Amino acid sequence: MYDVNSMKAEEFISDEEIRASLAYADEHCQDLELVDALLKKAEERKGLNHREASVLLACQDPERIQRMYDLAEQIKKDFYGNRIVMFAPLYLSDYCVNGCVYCPYHAGNKGITRKKLSQDDIRREVIALQDMGHKRLAIETGEDPVNNPIEYVLESIKTIYSIQHKNGAIRRVNVNIAATTVENYRKLKEAGIGTYILFQETYHKDSYEKLHPTGPKHNYAWHTEAMDRAMEGGIDDVGLGVLFGLELYRYEFAGLLMHAEHLEAVHGVGPHTISVPRVKRAEGIDPASFDNGIDDETFAKICALIRICVPYTGMIISTRESEAVREKVIRLGVSQISGASRTSVGGYAEEEPEDECSEQFDVSDKRTLDEVVRWLMEMGYIPSFCTACYREGRTGDRFMSLCKSGQIQNCCHPNALMTLKEYLMDYASEETKAIGEKLIQAELANIPRERTREICADHLKKIEEGIRDFRF
Ligand code: SAM
Repeated sequence: MYDVNSMKAEEFISDEEIRASLAYADEHCQDLELVDALLKKAEERKGLNHREASVLLACQDPERIQRMYDLAEQIKKDFYGNRIVMFAPLYLSDYCVNGCVYCPYHAGNKGITRKKLSQDDIRREVIALQDMGHKRLAIETGEDPVNNPIEYVLESIKTIYSIQHKNGAIRRVNVNIAATTVENYRKLKEAGIGTYILFQETYHKDSYEKLHPTGPKHNYAWHTEAMDRAMEGGIDDVGLGVLFGLELYRYEFAGLLMHAEHLEAVHGVGPHTISVPRVKRAEGIDPASFDNGIDDETFAKICALIRICVPYTGMIISTRESEAVREKVIRLGVSQISGASRTSVGGYAEEEPEDECSEQFDVSDKRTLDEVVRWLMEMGYIPSFCTACYREGRTGDRFMSLCKSGQIQNCCHPNALMTLKEYLMDYASEETKAIGEKLIQAELANIPRERTREICADHLKKIEEGIRDFRF
């Protein structure tokens, strides 16, 4: 037996174990008695391990697949209610020294315009984002120790948090930057970041090395062990992800769950979020040149199974996906979505000029935030701009234990309604406002607990009177 605390990347993401799990899944996926038993176990809402999950992923029985979807939808409702958390990415710099073959920011790409936002540029971007109504950002940079050192990232976070424009404020900055040292993670923690997000891209070591032929990101162990260093540095909310399309999806899915199991075993808390990006067209990048693209149905099945297998982990879907795909997977378990995203460096304050190109990938869902918010509400969801958990110290295992006990509903629901109300008053179009007000009234009437209803009424009254509570 391994000592999990000192496990290295190739031990906790064991290629041998993944292959054995996939072989087990192939052998047993038509054993409907086993599939039924796994579905029954999943109904307990305690999750499934990577091997069990692989059997469900391999199962092609239509009736069982429908049951997976139904269960995912039910678990989503139980743990997250009808709330969908909103965020936007903010690209700070596309300078990059890596050679990632799927990413337009790779060092050898001469077709891309290299840009880096100054602190004044960041101010303009953040004001544009606040004017849309955003409260939560994910900052993104390429990896470049000279152009994007940690000091630049820290200074940018400070700038972002310092901007109060009208009733706006960015209340949570999540960070998606390259794997770094424990010392740097500690600095990010001290700067008050929310989640540290790092996509594994692929868990398959040989493919990983081929897809990242040059630069610091080539080092599989350094990248794969990043979350352990982040947690050692005090960051307890970390976000995992796989870039689907690069390797066989079944391999990635098992690897992703093994990574989550490892974090839970060693640090006592699993990933705060899981993202599910798919490779997209970008400057000099053709997704068709990667052999492992997955269709929308397989994608939906993966999302449903993530919801079933790690019920307490948030799931994020970006504007890489179309409105139709987003609609489908939101129902199956996604809890957080981006809206009105720009993937270029400096794309919010001004459109990027035609002769420049710094977009990281093509956006499929190009709607405004107002349109996305309205669309969610028309489907009965509550778009939430809440960041209270993080601001009140409900992170890591504290968040997870509240979530597991179902208590998170009691604070999240009133807070979500309050931040939606704030959004409607400050930023929404008349049409969106009308739909939102109706939805809030209907939600209020349905809150079963007296105390929660009181908290809600209190929150809403304050906003009506123009009093903003920036704790949320
Ligand atoms: N440089 C950091 C790193 O190495 O992790 C930050 C990541 S980058 C700004 C954000 C993510 O975009 C990458 O981790 C990758 O998964 C994704 N990405 C890169 N190229 C993409 C493409 N062509 N289509 C979709 N997603 C892409």
